[in-house]
Amino acid sequence: MTAAPEIKGWCPGALRPMLSGDGLVVRIRPPFGSLTPAQAAAIAEAAQTHGNGIIDLSARANLQLRGVTQASHPKLIDDLSAQSLIDPDIETESLRNLIVTPFLDAETAVLAATLTATLTRMPRLPGKFGFALDTGPRPVLTAASADIRVERAADGRLILRPDGLPFGKPITDLAADTLALADWFLASGGVTNGRGRMAALIARGIIPPGCDTAPATPLPQPEPGLHPDGALVALAFGQMQAETLSALAALGHEIRLTPWRMLLLVGATRLPELPGLVTDPADPILRVTACTGAPGCPQALGETRALARSLAARLPEGKSLHVSGCTKGCAHPGVSDLTLVATARGYDLVHGGTAQDTPSHRALMPSAIPDHLPDHTKAPNAPPL
Ligand code: SF4
Repeated sequence: MTAAPEIKGWCPGALRPMLSGDGLVVRIRPPFGSLTPAQAAAIAEAAQTHGNGIIDLSARANLQLRGVTQASHPKLIDDLSAQSLIDPDIETESLRNLIVTPFLDAETAVLAATLTATLTRMPRLPGKFGFALDTGPRPVLTAASADIRVERAADGRLILRPDGLPFGKPITDLAADTLALADWFLASGGVTNGRGRMAALIARGIIPPGCDTAPATPLPQPEPGLHPDGALVALAFGQMQAETLSALAALGHEIRLTPWRMLLLVGATRLPELPGLVTDPADPILRVTACTGAPGCPQALGETRALARSLAARLPEGKSLHVSGCTKGCAHPGVSDLTLVATARGYDLVHGGTAQDTPSHRALMPSAIPDHLPDHTKAPNAPPL
């Protein structure tokens, strides 16, 4: 029988890193999800000097430096502090759990400053409780993890939408209304044993008053390529080497982090050609997601990324595959067409579900997995496993 994965109930930060299989994971939450070229260059250098040079872009649009040691952590914090990337204390860092739309206009920048200041006054919320500021004309962050969302209605009004509810409440005062909704969440029984999410409370039929306004129709997730705001470049599995970030910094653009395993180079009018970047939206690697897996994650029961990479080209266009090192499903909590979950006896396969759903096949060896992919992917030119 497989042991259930450990649920920590909190996210790592820079001041409170998390121990993983390859050392400490140090999560940097750049203010408003934005980096100047100097900040990006400094992070790349710090990742090489104090970590193992591997940088993850998280599903909450943060950067994670891997392979940091207890000895190198203090110096890393010094170097990041010099770039204004470190909060004054762990509590402030934990509270600043905010994703801002990468398509940042002037009004959103003002709202982001207001909301960031408001977060310092929040009541004590569960560690994973987060906020999304998604105030372009149409939402783009609906698939990103957040509990309280600021969006626009079709007529342009700002609304505050509790995650899990299709309607929000028109905002009269962003700070006061956000604090009131957080207070309502706590008072309504949203937290048990220090944990809880807004969508779970809503699913119990507990609804805040005044939520009667639908958001504008969300936009589909953008693809890599040129956009009105700049160039969107993707990272396989949301991971890059420090050299890639260093080369991006040298291009001189502001870099905005997204929850889509992509970086936005603000104002860029050409796609950079750099090793480690995916710029073709048809690249099969974009059809697969995979967590760190073994050996990087101590909870993993199997390797994930090499397997996902080997299967990517066998997936038909439009199909998605998630390879997870255990049932926790960190890389993709949502539904995929196919999900492979590592177990002590091979990989379990779930069709149309998540890593926690009941598999249709159990204990598959990697060589047997292609037989379970859709038939037309077994093309003669499909790469060998
Ligand atoms: S899903 Fe992957 S990264 Fe998350 S705990 Fe399991 S093995 Fe580790």
